[in-house]
Amino acid sequence: MNDLSLTPNLLQADVARHLTFTLGKDAPNASVYDWRMALSFAIRDRIVEPWFASTRRTWAEDRKRVYYLSMEFLIGRILEDATINLGLRDVAEEVMAGFGQDFRAIIENEPDAALGNGGLGRLAACFMESMATLGCPAYGYGIRYEHGLFRQRFEGGQQVETPEDWLSQAHPWEFARPESSYTIPFKGAVETVGGRESWVAGETVLAEAHDTPVVGWQGKWANTLRLWAAKPTTMFDLERFNRGDYAAAAEPEALARTLSRVLYPDDTTYQGKELRLKQEFFLTSAALQDILRRFKSTHSNLRDLPKYVAIQMNDTHPAIAGPELVRLLVDENGMEFADALETARGCLGYTNHTLLPEALERWATFTFGNVLPRHMQIVERIDQWHKDENYHRPHYIGIVKHHEVRMGELAFIMAHKVNGVSALHSELVKKNLFPELDKLHPGRIINQTNGVTPRRWLKMANRPLAKLITDTIGEGWEDHLDRLRELEPAIKGKQFREAFGAAKRVNKVALSNWIGAECGVQVSPDALFDVQIKRIHEYKRQLLNILETIARWHAIRANPKANWVPRVKIFGGKSAPGYAVAKEIIHLINDVAAVINTDPVTGDLLKIVYPPNYNVSMAERLIPASDLSEQISTAGKEASGTGNMKFMMNGAPTIGTLDGANVEILQEVGAENFFLFGLTAEEVMIRRQDPDHSRKAIEASKALQDVLQMIAEGRFSPTQKDRYHGLVHRVWHHDYFLVAADFDAFHAAQGEVDKAYADRQRWLGMAAMNTARSGFFSSDRTIRSYMDDIWGIEPAL
Ligand SMILES: *Cc1c(COP(=O)(O)O)cnc(C)c1O
Repeated sequence: MNDLSLTPNLLQADVARHLTFTLGKDAPNASVYDWRMALSFAIRDRIVEPWFASTRRTWAEDRKRVYYLSMEFLIGRILEDATINLGLRDVAEEVMAGFGQDFRAIIENEPDAALGNGGLGRLAACFMESMATLGCPAYGYGIRYEHGLFRQRFEGGQQVETPEDWLSQAHPWEFARPESSYTIPFKGAVETVGGRESWVAGETVLAEAHDTPVVGWQGKWANTLRLWAAKPTTMFDLERFNRGDYAAAAEPEALARTLSRVLYPDDTTYQGKELRLKQEFFLTSAALQDILRRFKSTHSNLRDLPKYVAIQMNDTHPAIAGPELVRLLVDENGMEFADALETARGCLGYTNHTLLPEALERWATFTFGNVLPRHMQIVERIDQWHKDENYHRPHYIGIVKHHEVRMGELAFIMAHKVNGVSALHSELVKKNLFPELDKLHPGRIINQTNGVTPRRWLKMANRPLAKLITDTIGEGWEDHLDRLRELEPAIKGKQFREAFGAAKRVNKVALSNWIGAECGVQVSPDALFDVQIKRIHEYKRQLLNILETIARWHAIRANPKANWVPRVKIFGGKSAPGYAVAKEIIHLINDVAAVINTDPVTGDLLKIVYPPNYNVSMAERLIPASDLSEQISTAGKEASGTGNMKFMMNGAPTIGTLDGANVEILQEVGAENFFLFGLTAEEVMIRRQDPDHSRKAIEASKALQDVLQMIAEGRFSPTQKDRYHGLVHRVWHHDYFLVAADFDAFHAAQGEVDKAYADRQRWLGMAAMNTARSGFFSSDRTIRSYMDDIWGIEPAL
C-alpha cells in the first residue's frame, strides 16, 4: 500500500488541507457535506496511486483488457466502500471523531449513485469491484445519467415517483476528461464513394468521458469506470443569443443533453422508444471508438484485436456493438467484411439476463434504419452471411424478421460466447430461448452463475458478523470466501451459535430503531424479520407473500392465545412507473399494513413495514438484520437473483422456489438449511396447460378462499370497497404466475419456518450454516470463471 495511507496523522492532515484548500471552508463553519467532501478527496488521493500503477503495468506488459459494456451501474455509496478496501475504515472514523464529526453521519450524507434499476446494474457494480480485487485489467463503460433511478414515495399507500438528482451536489469520485471525447453520429444517409459505403450523419453529439477509479480489496489494483456524458457538437448560437432569442440559442445543447439525461426506469419490459436506441448506440459507439484508439496507439494490425480486447455485453442493451465494430473496422479502417466479422466475434461476449419475452429487445426496422441507416445495412449483411454459412438454419430463425431487428439473435450471432447467469437459467436459454442457434453453434452457450462482492455485502454492511468471522477463522476470508467453511466446526458449538445470534441481534436492534423513525411503526427485535426486497414484479410474486401474510393474520385472530412466533414482514422495492399491476400490488401491501399494524388482537405478533425508496444503501441496512430471505418467484422466471446471495452470506435462510440461483444455494447449504416449496419450472409449464388451474387451486384451499374473500369485501380498503376487485378476479381467472397453485405449499413452508425459529439452537445453526456455505457466491469466483471461459485473461495479481 502507498505511503499516503500509513498513519492517522497523515489522513487527518489531508482532510484538513482539502477542507481548507479544495472546499475553501473554515472548520467551524463546515457542514457534514463539507466534511464528507474533504474526507472523500483525502481517500480518493489514496486510490490514485494504485490506479496509476495498475494502468502503467497494463501498458508495460501489453495486457489484454476487459471492456464491460453496461447501460446500468447500480453503485450505491462509494466512500465507506473505498475506506474498507484501502484498510482505512477505522482510521477514517477515528480521524473524523478527532474533528468532532460522526463518521456514520458523514457516510450517510453521500447520495447513492443509482445508475441502474436492480439486479443487472448491481451485478455490473459487483463485477467492477471483483475485477479490481483480482487484478483483471478492465474498463467499465456506461452512461453518466444526470438523473438515476427515480425516488419513490407513498401517498395514500400508492407509489409516487420524483426525480433523483445525485449530481446536484459535487461528485468527488470522478475525473472529467474533456480531452477524451468522441463524435457520435445518428440518422442521415449512406453514400457510396469509390465502391465503399460511407455514412453521412444527419445529427451528431459529443460523448465526453468521466472516469471513476474502482479500487479492489487491499488497494492492490484499481480499474476505471468510464461514464459518457452527452455534449453538443455545435457551439451555442451566439448570433441568436445576441438577438435575444435565448431559448433557441441553447437548443442544440438541450437536445444533446437529453441523451444522458435520465435512466430508463424499467428493467423487465421493453418499449421501442427511439431515445433508448440512441442511448444504447451513444454508449456503445463511444466505448468502441475509445477501445480502438487505445489499441491503435500501440498496435498496428487490427486482426490482433481479440488477443488484446474482450468486450462483454451486459444483456442486449449494447448489442449494437457487433455491427458498430464491423462498421468501424470496414468503413473507417478498410478491413474486409468477413475479416471484420471474425475479428468482432473474437472480441465479443454476450450475457443473457432474462427469458421474459416482453424484455427481449426488438426494434422496428423503420426506427432502426432511421436512427442507424448504415447499421441496418450491416445487420442485414450479417444475417445473410449467417444464413449462407448455416444452410440448415430454419427459415423462421434470423436477426431481421417481420420488420424487426431482434437484438438477442444479433448478440448471439456476433458473440463467441453467450452465457446465462445461473445453472438453471443457462439450461433454459439453451432449451427455450435459442434452441435452434444452440444446435447450429454447440458449446457457444455456457453458464456463469452470478455472484456478489463480499467486501460490500458482508465486510462493510455487517460489521458485527465480519468481526465474529475474523475472530473465529482469522483474517483473509474477504478475498477467499470459500474459507467461510472453516466456520463449520465452530457452528457445532453453542458458544459460537450464541455469538452469531448476538451479532444478528445488534443489527436487528439498529433496524428496529430505524424502522421506528422512518416508518413510524414499533417493531420488536425479538420477532422474526421476514424480508422481501427487490423490484416489484408479478413474476417475483410479492402478491403471494402479502396473501400469505393475510392468511397468517386471519389464523392468529382465530386463535390469538396459541404459541405464535412474532413476525415482522418487511417489503421493499420500486415498480416501473408504467406497470399498473405492480403498482396495485404496492397499494395492496400498504393497505394491508395499515389494517394489520393497528389491530390490537394481533399486536406484536404481526407487523408489516414497507419503507419507501429501496436502494443499495437500504439493502445494506436490511439484509444484515434479516432472519428470512424471501425468494419466491415462479419457477423458471428469475434468471439468477443476487439478492438471494446477499441474504445467504448474512446468515438468513431462504424460503424459496427452485428458481435461478436458489437451486445452487440449496445445493450448497443443504435441504436442512433451506425452506423449499412450490412447483418446479417443468411443473409450472405443465400446470399452465390447464386453463382452470387457479380456480381449482383456490377451491382446494380454504385459507386462500378466506384471504381473497376478505380482500374482495374491502376489509383492507374500507373507503373504497371494490378497490381490489380486478386484482382478485385476476387471481381467480388469469393467474399466469401461479400464485394460487403455490399458495398452500408456501403457507405450509412458512409453518416450517415458525417451527424452526422456535427452536433457537436449531435456527442459529441454520443461519450460521448459510454464511459458512456462501463462499461460492462471491463475485470473485464469477469473475475468475469469466476470465477463464470467455475473456482468456490472466489476473495480474
Ligand atoms: C441486489 C439488489 C437487487 C437485486 O435483487 P434481486 O432480489 O436479485 O432481484 C436489486 N436492487 C438492489 C438495490 C440490490 O442491492
